[in-house]
Amino acid sequence: MTIYTPPLRDMQFVMHEVLNVTADLQAMPAHAEMDVDTINAVLEEGGKFAAEVLLPLNQSGDAASCQLDPVTHEVTTPAGFKAAYAQYIEGGWAALACDPEFGGQGLPLVVNQCFYEMMNSANQAWTMYPGLTHGAYAALYTHGTPEQKATYLHKMTSGEWTGTMCLTEPHCGTDLGLMRSKAEPQADGTFRITGTKIFISAGEHDMAANIIHLVLARLPDAPPGIKGVSLFIVPKYLVNADGTLGARNPIFASRLEHKMGIKANASAQIEIDGAIGTLVGQPHKGMQGMFVMMNAARLGVGNQSLGLTEVAFQNALAYAKDRLQMRSLTGPKAKDQPADPIIVHPDVRKMLLTAKAYAEGGRALMYFSSMLLEKEYGHPDEKVRKEAGELLALLTPIVKAFITDNGWTATSACMQVFGGHGYITDNGMEQFVRDARINMIYEGTNTIQSLDLLGRKVLGNNGATLKKFGKLIGALVAEEGVNEKMAEFITPIAILGDQMTKFTTELGFKGFQNPDEVGAAAVDYLRVAGHLVFGYFWARMAQVALQKIAAGSTDPFYVAKLQTARFYFAKLFPETATLMRTARAGSRALMDTDAALA
Ligand SMILES: Cc1cc2nc3c(=O)[nH]c(=O)nc-3n(C[C@H](O)[C@H](O)[C@H](O)COP(=O)(O)OP(=O)(O)OC[C@H]3O[C@@H](n4cnc5c(N)ncnc54)[C@H](O)[C@@H]3O)c2cc1C
Repeated sequence: MTIYTPPLRDMQFVMHEVLNVTADLQAMPAHAEMDVDTINAVLEEGGKFAAEVLLPLNQSGDAASCQLDPVTHEVTTPAGFKAAYAQYIEGGWAALACDPEFGGQGLPLVVNQCFYEMMNSANQAWTMYPGLTHGAYAALYTHGTPEQKATYLHKMTSGEWTGTMCLTEPHCGTDLGLMRSKAEPQADGTFRITGTKIFISAGEHDMAANIIHLVLARLPDAPPGIKGVSLFIVPKYLVNADGTLGARNPIFASRLEHKMGIKANASAQIEIDGAIGTLVGQPHKGMQGMFVMMNAARLGVGNQSLGLTEVAFQNALAYAKDRLQMRSLTGPKAKDQPADPIIVHPDVRKMLLTAKAYAEGGRALMYFSSMLLEKEYGHPDEKVRKEAGELLALLTPIVKAFITDNGWTATSACMQVFGGHGYITDNGMEQFVRDARINMIYEGTNTIQSLDLLGRKVLGNNGATLKKFGKLIGALVAEEGVNEKMAEFITPIAILGDQMTKFTTELGFKGFQNPDEVGAAAVDYLRVAGHLVFGYFWARMAQVALQKIAAGSTDPFYVAKLQTARFYFAKLFPETATLMRTARAGSRALMDTDAALA
């Protein structure tokens, strides 16, 4: 059995002491009354739900997985999942950050993000059932007609109905322009959708009364490629005019995938056999609505790995204090014991601190990004909305790819702390590794995220948005540049910030001459950018810790924060030098290899 304690203290530190979220929230009409106590009280209860209801179902769900009845096409989720979902709805958790107009509680997105981090720590597979609904809700909320909103959003807000996103087809994954699913217009204004979708998360299950599939398909007059893809709502059960459930729509699960991780989440092949759907947004402009969903989902996927990194760390830390093996290199520490606890060994500490530094750095980036999303849609000042949107667009691929790559490294390191016992299923550590692996693949693979970052978000606007993030670093450097105590945290990011400008210009120039240069450098580039962003947040966290200590605090939390910041800058951040070197090595070593790859 694994353990999990919601990291409420660290969440509060990031939100209230580093980012001061309530000040920003109070500037927005929807959250004018928001205060620290409300946020903390909600998260304390949310943590209990995660740790007490979801965690006990994580390993049993992994062992049982979901079952498809080939005759009825219904899916049964593992024991306890349905009851936990009923408790989730009963507690009003589904409605936390949704608009009060549709029955939501209107709490800030950052609170929902914290809640989801805890649920992901406790049980990623379960959390994906309600998680997908948020993306579908966001797409309908932004692009749905008033009638569509009235029909679907109340029940999706309450959680009585869940959502999916149906993009992938057998021959069409990354390249959505290859899509074949068809939509035939009907005389009554609806569409008949036909096609096969695969790998659809939460695509069929027994936890909710209806499933609202958001499906991409092509209209008969669609131009070829991605510019001919439209978005449709295709509910499992049609909805009558009075809101009750009507006929079963022919959109069925025909197969469930057997997979490496998140086994308790149904990854369904979905056959759509002339199912009735309605168009969302404009014809052929389906990607606009889908992007709302995908961007929400990309932040959500980063949050999945943040949760796994935290829970893996907590378990590895407890084990490292308990497991006795060998003596410390500097002489016995637990003299009354036959051996020392493994936490005395430098490399065990390195593995633990790697996970801790990645979890806490990821948390700061995640909550900062959630606040940007809140501002992009809810701030009264148009300039603030625009700036927030631009910065978030830059940070989204970093949240998705950097946090999930780090999550893979961290869960693997934490499993290693357990030695052979980490490899044994009963101890739960190998499940964290297996569950973490998918986060690097879906929602646009991490390679695609890095191409999006370097190609579109950075070079696409000549580094203008990157400069905006550079301004944040510049402000911190200006503020703390002469503070000797901050030098160890400020100097590395100031240097990397300067190097990044030159590095980006160089890649832009090379990419202009040969586009493969961008493809060859992008993954390394995203990791360098990820460290620049993490370095900035680690410096800000160190700044607050130093200020609190200077003001007389003896809370060991701040000492721990400084020690972790020092570890981060000493042992993780310097990989940027190697990454810039490998990126600069160019495309030839990859592309001039036909004989090697023959
Ligand atoms: C468990 C699970 C759940 C999923 N849930 C959903 C869901 O809910 N809804 C949904 O629609 N889909 C879902 N997916 C699908 C997922 O989003 C795709 O698997 C993913 O987008 C990659 O597509 P693909 O598998 O076809 O790989 P491919 O597109 O075939 O890519 C194969 C490899 O080639 C690389 N590649 C492709 N193009 C380029 C390029 N231009 N440059 C460099 N490298 C490139 C990729 O990065 C990858 O490494 C899920 C998948 C899984 C496994």
